[in-house]
Amino acid sequence: MPFIDLKAQYRALQPEIQRRINQVLEHGQYIMGPEVKELEERLAANTGAKHCVTVASGTEALLISLMALGIGRGDEVITTPFTFVATAEVIVLLGATPVLVDIEPDTGNIDASLIEAAITPRTKAIMPVSLYGQAADMDEINAVAARHGNIPVIEDAAQSFGATYKGRKSCNLSTLGCTSFFPSKPLGCYGDGGAVFTNNDALAQACREIRVHGQSKRYVHTRIGVGGRMDTLQCAITLAKLERFAWEIEQRLAVGQRYNELLGQHGIRRIVQRADRDSVFAQYTVLVDDREGLQAKLKDAGIPTAVHYPVPLNEQPAYRELCVSPIPTPKSEAIAKRVMSLPMSADLSADDQDRIVSAVAKSLAPA
Ligand SMILES: *Cc1c(COP(=O)(O)O)cnc(C)c1O
Repeated sequence: MPFIDLKAQYRALQPEIQRRINQVLEHGQYIMGPEVKELEERLAANTGAKHCVTVASGTEALLISLMALGIGRGDEVITTPFTFVATAEVIVLLGATPVLVDIEPDTGNIDASLIEAAITPRTKAIMPVSLYGQAADMDEINAVAARHGNIPVIEDAAQSFGATYKGRKSCNLSTLGCTSFFPSKPLGCYGDGGAVFTNNDALAQACREIRVHGQSKRYVHTRIGVGGRMDTLQCAITLAKLERFAWEIEQRLAVGQRYNELLGQHGIRRIVQRADRDSVFAQYTVLVDDREGLQAKLKDAGIPTAVHYPVPLNEQPAYRELCVSPIPTPKSEAIAKRVMSLPMSADLSADDQDRIVSAVAKSLAPA
């Protein structure tokens, strides 16, 4: 049983994927070919955002967003310690300081009620992460940002493309939204890819220029940029993946809700889904005490597991000195010791899911 079933997805989409790839090979515009614009239009329509700018990866989307906002040395960016390292990496790469605010212990997302206390005159952005595919409490975060002189809010939506929040789409919930098309994300390509979403014309233009070395016209470099384009081939593959993406989103939600019910019957704790938002279940994550023991037993039963994430950023060797937390972040430290993700994909069968749940229940039962 795979942790994420990308092969079943490929088999279901094979003719369309190959047709799309062949089309690129025929026209030969490997960089900024027509599929780039086509994908951007489709994704903008999908989220309702005015602009979509595809970029080389989710990390690049975050970096380019911060650069578009002019963030640099001496600036502070408020974010969560309980995330993939890229969220903080891009902040420190620009010479700014990640200011870490603790999480809600039931969702793992940043606790909006703790953000205000971390704002200083140097705060230049707030970067919540929509963890495991469930949007952070974006309205509350936007409200805090608005009260403090409209601080820009960047949603790290690397795991949440396709999720909804109060009927609106993740990636289009704040100043900028950034997603990733890393193969295992809810909408994945076959390599690296990502996108920035915004309704702000000037920021969209800045992102477009930064993605090609700060170029406004050919060989006219009006700002510092990066080599951050998404390949035409990866855009073509992502377009093919959109063919059944709506079905996949429904399926992921159904699989996630079925996990909730089955695990609930065994009293197994898990990440909670809020009633006002639909997760895309980028990960399905339970909370357990003896994680290593459980992982070993599941491995013996042929069930792969993963940990997202075992160490909060403020405890990572390279980041300890570079991050600040105005108030301690004990909930992040506690959850990092307990989270464990189970196999999850739109193609996970009910039989396999039953097998996973009974193996978890059996492994947790007192011997
Ligand atoms: C995957 C991920 C990223 C980085 O995306 P890449 O496409 O791998 O660069 C950033 N933030 C979060 C929360 C992620 O899960």
